[in-house]
Amino acid sequence: MPDIDDLERRLRAGDRAALARAITLVESRRSDHQGVARALLERVMPYTGQAQRLGITGVPGAGKSTTIEALGVNLTTAGHRVAVLAVDPSSSRTGGSILGDKTRMERLATDPNAYIRPSPSGGTLGGVARKTREAMLLCEAAGFDVIIVETVGVGQSETVVADMVDLFLALLIPGGGDELQGIKKGLIEIADMIVINKADSDPPRAERSAREYRAALHILTPASPDWTPPVLTASGLNNEGLDRLWAQIERHREIMTANGDRAARRAAQNARWMWAMVRDRLDEAFREAPDVAAISAEMERQVRAGRVPASTAADRLLKAFGL
Ligand code: GDP
Repeated sequence: MPDIDDLERRLRAGDRAALARAITLVESRRSDHQGVARALLERVMPYTGQAQRLGITGVPGAGKSTTIEALGVNLTTAGHRVAVLAVDPSSSRTGGSILGDKTRMERLATDPNAYIRPSPSGGTLGGVARKTREAMLLCEAAGFDVIIVETVGVGQSETVVADMVDLFLALLIPGGGDELQGIKKGLIEIADMIVINKADSDPPRAERSAREYRAALHILTPASPDWTPPVLTASGLNNEGLDRLWAQIERHREIMTANGDRAARRAAQNARWMWAMVRDRLDEAFREAPDVAAISAEMERQVRAGRVPASTAADRLLKAFGL
C-alpha cells in the first residue's frame, strides 16, 4: 500500500506520477485501495475547487480531441495547467473508444503542464461518473486549474457530465439545414455554449448552422437570466476561433461567479452527488444480500409472466432485505 503522507505531499506538489497513482486508487475495486482513496480525498478537499471545470460533448468525429488538444496547448502556453478526463460508459465494451488511443492529443500528452486520463473502464455510468468526479478533485489538488471532461454522449452520459462541471459545451459540426432535427433537444437545453466546429471546410455553411442554433436557443428559456448560451464557430484543426471560445468561457465564469450561480450550481451538484452515491450503495447492498439474491430472479420471472403483482413482489424482496 502506498504511504498516504508521501502520496499527498507529492500530489500537492503537482507530481503527475503521484496524481496517476491516486486516480488509480480511486478507480480500484479493492476495498483497501478505496479506504486509502477516501482518506486521501478527505485530506486534499481543502485544496480543491479552484479550477475551471469544463464539459465537452460531441459525436465521434466532431473534432473533440483535435479541439481539446489545440485549446489545451493554447492554455498551457498561457501558463495554465490542464487536465483532460473522459466519461465513456461504453469503454469497457469497445476497449476504450475515447481517449484510449495513444495517438490522440499527442502534443498535449507530452506537455508537462497537461495531464490526460482515459475513461475509467467497466461498471455503470454512475460508477464511471463517481470515479471521474473524484479524479477531478485530485487534479485540482495537484494544481490543475482547467479540467476538461470529455464525453461522447452515450445514453445519459451528457447529463452526468453536465452535472459535474461549471460549463457544458456542445461541439457540433455544420449540417445541411435540417441538423436541428438530428440533435437531441435535451442537449441544447443543458449546453451552456455551442460551438460549430470544422468551420474551415465551408465557412458560410458553418455560419448558417450557427444562426439556426441561435434561433433554436432563442425559443428556450435560459437556465440563468444572466446567460444566454452563445453559439460560436471554430476550427479545432486550424486553431481558429479558440481564443474567442476561451474568452466566452472566462466571461461565463465572471458572470456566474458574480451572481452566485456558479457556487449554487456546485453546491447542488455536490448534494445530488451524495444522494446518488447513497442510492448506488443501497442498490448494491440490496442486490448482494443473500436472501434477496435467492429469490430475485424468481420474483422477476413471476412479475414478467403476470402471475404476481409488481407491488407484492417488491414487498417480498424488501422483506427479504429486512425492511
Ligand atoms: P472526435 O472523435 O470528436 O475526438 O474527433 P477528432 O478530433 O478525432 O476528429 C475527427 C476528424 O475530424 C479528424 O480527421 C480530424 O482531423 C478532423 N477535424 C477535427 N477538427 C477539424 C476542423 O476544425 N476542421 C476540419 N476540417 N477537420 C477537423
